[in-house]
Amino acid sequence: MTTTTVLQDNCVRNDPSGKNRLNWAIVPVMTIVHVGAVAALFFFSWTGLFLAIFLYWVTGALGLGICYHRLLTHRSFATPKWFEYFLTICGVTAMEGGPLLWVAIHRKHHQFADKDGDPHSPRDGKWWSHAGWVLCGNALRQDVATLKRYVPDLAEDKVHVWLTKYHLAPLAIVAAVLYAIGGFRLVLWGVFFRTVVGLHATWIVNSAAHIWGSRRFETRDTSTNNWWVALVSFGDGWHNNHHAYPVSARHGLKWYEIDLNWYTIWMFKQLGLASRIHDARPPVLSHANQSNSEAPDRVAVVANLGIISQDPGEGPPPPH
Ligand SMILES: [Zn+2]
Ligand SMILES: [Zn+2]
Repeated sequence: MTTTTVLQDNCVRNDPSGKNRLNWAIVPVMTIVHVGAVAALFFFSWTGLFLAIFLYWVTGALGLGICYHRLLTHRSFATPKWFEYFLTICGVTAMEGGPLLWVAIHRKHHQFADKDGDPHSPRDGKWWSHAGWVLCGNALRQDVATLKRYVPDLAEDKVHVWLTKYHLAPLAIVAAVLYAIGGFRLVLWGVFFRTVVGLHATWIVNSAAHIWGSRRFETRDTSTNNWWVALVSFGDGWHNNHHAYPVSARHGLKWYEIDLNWYTIWMFKQLGLASRIHDARPPVLSHANQSNSEAPDRVAVVANLGIISQDPGEGPPPPH
């Protein structure tokens, strides 16, 4: 995806007529990384595999789950600015676009979840919610006005704007370093294979965690809690919990709901790197567990981005 694609001025927001049109800025790139990922299997090395797992955690957990999602989109916690930028670079290296684009799309998803305007709802088809919305249509062609409306906080930040414009630069540097260290085999594993696994781990939250699994909360969407999605996405598969309490940095609300990203944020707190952490604590959970309750979907007010200015520690109102 190029900068001009991301910051295109003349696009129609969620133009349904473009849904069957392949996105030619994306399709060749996706084809190449998938071919590279399969090729990696024919050039197996243990070093490559462990490198891929490590970079999958760096980009998928630190970068996407913790930074793009819980920090930048929902402002579930705060970090020193330098650390926010470091985590953002990890996210950019996942090859899912720059922070402005990713965050705008995800805020839009919460605002319109499973309704008209949701960029990737399984209501429009399972395949569409997984990768169809990336390969076809206009979801990735957010115009400048839309970006400014959905990410006014990030649009003011020169570093985030720069990283969105040049979002392929960190990945290119990683590829060059890996090539210098271990040749093309290491690039196949550390870039191609790792990137493809990471892409599908993100997409599966959008698809599977809106189709299969259990629903603890009667949210206004089809989100589910799905343990295997949670495992591959470092905790983001507790997606029904998340749609009920989007601002919570903790997605796994019960002790057995493994949420690696939450444990990492907790560790950041011990190290003095995370503060003002929003936490949907168990007492909150017991409120919302009452029969026929509809948990407050706070991102329904995303139009004015009220989620960002929410008081830390404020609990959701008990359902009536
Ligand atoms: Zn969702
Ligand atoms: Zn979210």
